[in-house]
Amino acid sequence: MKNILILGGGFAGVEAAIFLKKKKFNVTLVSDRDYFYIYPTSIWVPTRDSEFKDVCIDLKELQAAHGFSLKIDAVKAISTQNSTVTLQSGKVLSDYDYLIIAMGASKMKPKGVANTLSICGSPEQSLKIRDKIDALIEKGSGKICFGFGANPNDSSAVRGGPGFELMFNLHNLLKKKGIRENYELTFFAPMAEPGKRMGPRALNMMGKFFEKLDIKTHFGKKIDRFLKSSIVFEDETRLESDFTMFVPAGDGHTVLKKSGLPMNGAGFIKTDDFSQVIFYDEEEKIDETMPDNIYAIGDIASLEGYEWRAKQGHIAEVMARNVAHNIYERERGTTYFKGYHEHLNILCVMDSGDGAAMIYRDEKRSFTIPMPYIGHWLKKGWGIYCRYSKLGRIPRIPGM
Ligand SMILES: Cc1cc2nc3c(=O)[nH]c(=O)nc-3n(C[C@H](O)[C@H](O)[C@H](O)COP(=O)(O)OP(=O)(O)OC[C@H]3O[C@@H](n4cnc5c(N)ncnc54)[C@H](O)[C@@H]3O)c2cc1C
Repeated sequence: MKNILILGGGFAGVEAAIFLKKKKFNVTLVSDRDYFYIYPTSIWVPTRDSEFKDVCIDLKELQAAHGFSLKIDAVKAISTQNSTVTLQSGKVLSDYDYLIIAMGASKMKPKGVANTLSICGSPEQSLKIRDKIDALIEKGSGKICFGFGANPNDSSAVRGGPGFELMFNLHNLLKKKGIRENYELTFFAPMAEPGKRMGPRALNMMGKFFEKLDIKTHFGKKIDRFLKSSIVFEDETRLESDFTMFVPAGDGHTVLKKSGLPMNGAGFIKTDDFSQVIFYDEEEKIDETMPDNIYAIGDIASLEGYEWRAKQGHIAEVMARNVAHNIYERERGTTYFKGYHEHLNILCVMDSGDGAAMIYRDEKRSFTIPMPYIGHWLKKGWGIYCRYSKLGRIPRIPGM
């Protein structure tokens, strides 16, 4: 059976490993972390609604459940010219028939970003945000700013939802403690209408939420730099902030820089609809001299299509299942491949701590369904489903 090397143990990499094992391939997964991190439910770590361990799944447990080989090591370099992958430990991997790259995105680095923390950064940052919130609660008052940034080269790499969710959860925590009026909460973003790509209804709902919860907004001004206790905008106006939670836009993964892989202007790997990396020559024809056994899935891949498209976990998983299927079909000598494009949509259950709103958008429809109370528990339930279905202890809901 053919050997498949997967780089990255997140939504895309783990899903690919699970589905390739079902097709009986020899699968090796390399990850720099020894756990799979359930990002969507990590929003509750800072407000102590979840423990850090609740949003991690041990990769060894996933390995035992599905039978893939596991290497905990960081990928240092990928060479398309030599068909090798070099790990931090010095090991060089070359014994693969197919390579699947699924290492997620790096983050843009605006000036002074070290003065902020991100719920979408390294998992440990959720604990640091928790400490900051604890300290501000202990202090009894403060100004807290939440925001996200843009990537001018790739709008699909912008992530605002988790920032909104964390801020609504913090509002609820402060309210429960009876101290909400002692804190000034502000949401900031460089775009005039952040959240617009979720559709007009969602945008309208966010506006109403901000008003109802007394959250100030600061939109439409480019961020120049972050200081310890303020955010400075391009016109040198400032927002005072005792703590800034800022989600930088995604950027191409740093490991890719010298890989020789084809990338878009923002550094995300170019693929076709079937997630296969396609090399083109100077005349824009497929370069037959380059490898045809590489796939890129999840946030690391350049997402093509609609202007509102967004890098999301469920799209990463669609790509992963497609790639398992497509490699299987290639090995059978057919071209019955599956593409991700027809599955592009925005789907999220935006949690507020005491409820949620289900937001959906595709090319034809966009709707928002408010789900007071039940929505919060629906999202909690999804977190449990995610853990136990990946571990093979409960059946999968088709397509999830
Ligand atoms: C807070 C938050 C909430 C979100 N909520 C939702 C949601 O509600 N719905 C939704 O659909 N999407 C959501 N998303 C988006 C979703 O989590 C991402 O789209 C998804 O994680 C992408 O999967 P991935 O496997 O491509 O990347 P990741 O999940 O980031 O996984 C990448 C993996 O590669 C590993 N890796 C990175 N570099 C190296 C290296 N050099 N060597 C070895 N391994 C490496 C990492 O450790 C990680 O395990 C959310 C994201 C965040 C941050």
